[in-house]
Amino acid sequence: MTSAPGPGGSPATHLHARHRAVMPEWLSLYYREPLELTHGEGRHVWDARGRRYLDFFGGILTTMTAHALPEVTKAVSEQAGRILHTSTLYLDRHMVELAERIAALSGIPDARVFFTTSGTEANDAALLLATSYRRSNQILAMRNSYHGRSFSAVGITGNSSWSPTSLSPLQTLYVHGGVRTSGPYAHLSDADFTAACVADLTDMLGQTHGRVAALIAEPVQGVGGFTSPPDGLYAAFREVLAERGILWITDEVQTGWGRTGDHFWGWQAHAEHGPPDLLTFAKGIGNGMSVGGVVARAEVMNCLDANSISTFGGSPVTMAAGLANLTHLLEHDLQGNARRVGGLLIERLRAVTAGFPAVREVRGRGLMIGIELVEHDGSPSPEAASLVLELAREEGLLIGKGGREANVLRIAPPLSLTITEAEEGAAALETVLRQVQFTIA
Ligand code: PLP
Repeated sequence: MTSAPGPGGSPATHLHARHRAVMPEWLSLYYREPLELTHGEGRHVWDARGRRYLDFFGGILTTMTAHALPEVTKAVSEQAGRILHTSTLYLDRHMVELAERIAALSGIPDARVFFTTSGTEANDAALLLATSYRRSNQILAMRNSYHGRSFSAVGITGNSSWSPTSLSPLQTLYVHGGVRTSGPYAHLSDADFTAACVADLTDMLGQTHGRVAALIAEPVQGVGGFTSPPDGLYAAFREVLAERGILWITDEVQTGWGRTGDHFWGWQAHAEHGPPDLLTFAKGIGNGMSVGGVVARAEVMNCLDANSISTFGGSPVTMAAGLANLTHLLEHDLQGNARRVGGLLIERLRAVTAGFPAVREVRGRGLMIGIELVEHDGSPSPEAASLVLELAREEGLLIGKGGREANVLRIAPPLSLTITEAEEGAAALETVLRQVQFTIA
């Protein structure tokens, strides 16, 4: 891949020292020598030294359409020139229009939308609504899940490396796809796996004292390593939950807006018994501007006795960005592009890594692709994942990592990725993974 000159910046090492001196240790950075990114265009970003990278992580699944999308830049600068902020105490055209469009797209009947500034806050709002509506504070969450960094969001996060407190959510024994090949679910068919999970859920509900308010789940676990359950699993869960009046919250922070290719929302792979009661979103809709929110049936959304506002949620500049971004996404059928290009990319990655002992599995949906790395003895290899990130950077490719053991490469480029770019990225990964074969234990 080629390098193109970019604007200058302070040397990354100096900036890194200043970062270490003033920021929390747990605000971890990628790479031994962290990158300072200065600008982007399309699917590419440039560092402070002017080096160009293909962005296979889309920011952090935030650049949904493309870096520096002209329509978004125009909408942001025009709105910034008019007025930066007004608050939800006043009417704003962009906010109402974006809410109308998200409500219509959500699939939730009689939907209402509340905007926040992040996915964490969106999940907090969903928990507040569900627990108020059900008059219960018991929440069922998934193992290995991630829902954000506030006190309540880490409390329902099942991935222990991201959950420093233990508010102890109720968790099912349910384990997503990638982990199924070992442990108690080994060799189960999708139908048997689903039946085992439903039995688990029913058993857990039988053991709870009092009412459970809601079950929250990511349709494809994101931070957990891009693992998907069999289609229909949440529909089967929903049947059990609905009988007891328990709400289903779908966390679409990573899976929304067509990223999974076959569906606009992740929940639509589990639609047999109807839509979820609440849906949370963030990341991609603002294309990097902080837009998050929760959608719920009017009856649930309007259950709060107290007043509530969000000072910055729904701020006009972010709403203008969201509208322009959503319009571009729909007009250019980027969901279709995610399906086509993502399908080719996953096939290509499977082909080039076939026979690599370090690659246990290439999995994914649309442009949400995980590559699970292991040692020769089959144990998770976080070291290999870190090494791949470093080497890929040298090849001019940025990717993410995740998984319970931090051994899964995460690929989630902007949804406008072209076939040529997909092939370029796959070739770079082949080169890197070939080198990594020789370093695993
Ligand atoms: N939910 C999911 C599924 C996420 O992946 C994340 C962030 O990665 C969040 C919630 C939290 O979103 P934010 O970082 O915008 O607060």
